[in-house]
This record gives sequence, C-alpha cells and structure tokens, in this order.
Amino acid sequence: DLVPVRRALISVSDKTGLAAFAGKLAAAGIELVSTGGTAAAIAEAGLAVTDISNVTGFPEIMDGRVKTLHPLVHGGLLAIRDDPQHAAAMDAHGIRPFDLVVINLYPFEEVRNAGGDYATTVENVDIGGPAMVRAAAKNHAYVAVLTEPADYDRVAASLAENGNCLPYLLRQELAAKAFARTAAYDAAISGWFAQTLDLADPHWRAFGGRLGEAMRYGENPHQEAGFYRTGDKRAGVATARQVQGKHLSYNNLNDTDAAFELVGEFDPAESAAVAIIKHANPCGVARAATLREAYGRALACDPVSAFGGIVALNRALDAEAASEIVKTFTEVIIAPGADADALALIAAKKNLRLLLTDGLPDPRASGLTIKSVAGGLLVQSRDNAVVEDLDLKTVTRRAPDARELADLKFAFKVAKHVKSNAIVYVRDGATVGVGAGQMSRVDSARIAARKAEDAAVAAGMTEPLTRGAVVASDAFFPFADGLLAAIEAGATAVIQPGGSMRDAEVIAAADAHDIAMVFTGTRHFRH
Ligand code: 5GP
Repeated sequence: DLVPVRRALISVSDKTGLAAFAGKLAAAGIELVSTGGTAAAIAEAGLAVTDISNVTGFPEIMDGRVKTLHPLVHGGLLAIRDDPQHAAAMDAHGIRPFDLVVINLYPFEEVRNAGGDYATTVENVDIGGPAMVRAAAKNHAYVAVLTEPADYDRVAASLAENGNCLPYLLRQELAAKAFARTAAYDAAISGWFAQTLDLADPHWRAFGGRLGEAMRYGENPHQEAGFYRTGDKRAGVATARQVQGKHLSYNNLNDTDAAFELVGEFDPAESAAVAIIKHANPCGVARAATLREAYGRALACDPVSAFGGIVALNRALDAEAASEIVKTFTEVIIAPGADADALALIAAKKNLRLLLTDGLPDPRASGLTIKSVAGGLLVQSRDNAVVEDLDLKTVTRRAPDARELADLKFAFKVAKHVKSNAIVYVRDGATVGVGAGQMSRVDSARIAARKAEDAAVAAGMTEPLTRGAVVASDAFFPFADGLLAAIEAGATAVIQPGGSMRDAEVIAAADAHDIAMVFTGTRHFRH
C-alpha cells in the first residue's frame, strides 16, 4: 500500500511553509508543478518548478478563474493507475499522473469575515482548487492530498521514512480531511448566501431581506428567531437607532412596530400623539397639545395593561413626557427624536430601550406585508387606507357634530391597528375603551366597555368615560346586537365600514337611539 511519490501538483493561496516543504520535495527528487503565484514563490526559493500552463499547453485565463480545469490535470489526478483502460487513456492523451497534491483554497472565509463587498466575496469562491482536492481525495488509492500547511511536516517525515513513498492509511486520512475541508468551504459559501439573500427561498429573496441580528429566541424561549431587514429606508422599527437599554426581543420588535405604525397615523403638526401597546394591540392612544398630556390620557385608558408596555410618540421625546413615562414600567420607547434633557432622564433607567428614528411611518405608503402559513407565505399590500381619504357617509337621521366627527376619525384610525374584531371607544381625542381580538364583535364591544368601567373605578370616577363617547368598529356589524352593546355603554356616534346584509336593521337601531352613524366603505381587518 506504499505508493511512490514522483510528481507533485502544488497550488496554494496561503503560502505559509511552502518554500520549506517544496524544498524537501525537490530534495527527494519529486517534480514540482504549480499554478502562477505558487510557481513564482517556489522559483523564488531557488527551486525548479514547472508551470501548470506548460503541462496543459493552455494559459491561465480569466484572472485565474480557469487555470487547472483541464483533462491533463484531472486525468493525472483521477486515473486508476493499474486499470488497463485508464492506463491506455493516459498513454493516448499524454497524461502523466500526480502522486501528491498540495492545495489550500482561495480565502473565502477570511474575505467574508473582513466584510468584503459582494463582487470580491464571490470572486474568492475557489473553483479549480476544490475540484482538484476532491479528485485527488477520491483517488486516494494512489494520490495523497494536503489541504493545510499543518500537515506538511508529517508528510515530509513519512516520505523520508518510507523511501519517498506514502502509506495508504495516511492517504486515506488526508482524503477524509480533504472532503471535510471542501464541505466546510461550501457550507461557508452557502451560509454567506443565506445571510446575504436571507433564506434561499425565492419568495423570501424577492423581498431582498438581510439578517439584521439573530434574536436570543422567538415569541417563546423554545423558538429560534432572527430579525431581517428588507432594506426599506422608510422610518420604522427596522431603521430605528437603539440609543440605550437591553437587547430588543422578538416580541419587543413586533410590539414596537405596531406602536410606531399606529402613532404614525397622527400628524405631529396637528397634535402630539402617544400610543401604548401590549401584545401588538393598543391599550391606550391619545392626542393632545403636549406629549405629556397625550401620554397621561393614553395611560388612563387602561393603566393596568400599560404596565410593561411599548410607548410610541409622534414627536421628539421631551423631558416633560419622559419624566411621566419613566414612572410606569415600560419596555420600549420609540420616537422620531429626543431632546438632551429627555435623553438624560431616560438614561437613568438603564434597561429601558429607547429607539429613535428620523421620522414617522407614512400610513399611506404602499408596500407589502407577509405572514407565513404552513408551507407558504401570504403576501398582501399594506393596509394604507386613511380615514381622511375615505368618502364618509352619514347613514342615520342625525349627523355627527364636529366634536363627534373628529373623535370618530380618531377612533377609526386606532381601530385599523387593533386586532379584529376591533371595537374602539374614543372621547375627546383619547381612547377610553379598546376591545381587541375577539371572535365575536359583541364580545369586543362589551370588553371595551367593561375595561372603561374598570378604568373609571380605578380613577375614582362615578361613570365610565364611554358615556358620551364615540365608537369605531373595524368591520360592519352583522347584527344590531354589537351596536346595541355600544349604545348601552353610552356611545353617541358610530363609525364603521357598512355593507352588511342587515345594514337597514343596524341603522334603524341607531336611529331609535338618536345615534349618529357614519359609513366609511373601507374595512380594517387585522389578524
Ligand atoms: P496561485 O497563487 O498559485 O496563482 O493560485 C493558487 C490558488 O488557485 C489556490 O488557492 C487554488 O485552489 C486556486 N486554483 C487552482 N486552480 C484553479 C482554477 O482553475 N480556478 C480557480 N478559480 N482557482 C484555482
């Protein structure tokens, strides 16, 4: 099982230890054949070396992309020496065997780790090297393959020990190592692609996402998760700068997104607005002259749920608002900026995450949203309908007065950001009851009213703020019962898409209670 080594093919990017090893091979009378840069390095060491181009009769072309991909090379690596047909093919085509192959590959991993640009990284994918490594390793019955300088010494020692032959067990071990190397190399390349293009899935790739960061875990600790950025430069959670606080979790990001998208509905030139989010649903939204006042009114809607919430602001955070927000345990604050005093106040709360952006999300922006289902992705255009752009129709005898109309629009904007079925009570520019995510609209209406009662009790008020409030429904009332529940809670005006088979029944119920009702013609389901 000892095979004499007479001819070696050397092609290395990492030239560490090359001169010394090549010197030992040359001293043992082994013919050296090399590619351009390697041949130059060997010649520089004063050793005789044959350039691979002289073996193939073909020059290295295309910046080295093609230098060893040639039958005179691969025939010499793959031939089964004692197979008569292989021997005949070697004779017929002038192929001479290689007994020893020394290769290390283009430094793909180093270039990737150094953050090389796309083209440079791709150029550092070695093609000919792995082909030779795999050919030599496959043919380890005759050929020994070295893939790293660390093996030079022991191979030289084995050659010296065995009269310029190498034993089968060493060739076999080197072959196993060679395949491990090419496997790791390809894994590095495919891993880089996966990171660069997100998942190799073409649907996902169509969105051009990049892995921003791996999360500690997903929605729950037993789930893995990562945050991918699509490269969309719009103001939003993916372009926000984290100024301070603990690492953001999967749920933090999801809730912060919901909070900021919601608060983006309110023009900062008109009023300050604040949204507090829990589990992707708002537990309080308000607008007012100042952020501090808006925060206080948003908090009052459901102070119990606001504990551990996400707070989004539509104006740069100021010290007055910051000093109020830090009184309640808050996971994340997101705002389009913050002044120095506010930053100082927040800094005292080490763990509190503060995210700042260069603007607000545009509620009218087009774009796509994606949801996964088993084995697929559901893709849809964003819900970018904004109530001011809708054709509002009063369908009842009584039309809403100006104060009611302003609150109805506010309520419908909030309802757009509440999981269906959504019922939102609003009074004077602040939510006073939010019913989210129920399977029945009546339940959402009742839950919202009951939460308003709880808040009133907590605040020492005699009656809930739903008395005299307006109400928004994200979709039509299929029966009058949902509307009646809202009227019972004290709502005086209603905004809803309309379009139910029983609209007439629902309108009649509203008229019977002197309720003003407006149809938007647009639904805001959110799941
Ligand atoms: P040199 O420095 O000798 O010019 O190039 C050595 C490097 O070229 C080695 O890393 C080797 O794996 C790689 N190599 C050898 N043949 C080919 C080939 O035909 N195509 C490509 N892309 N790389 C090759």
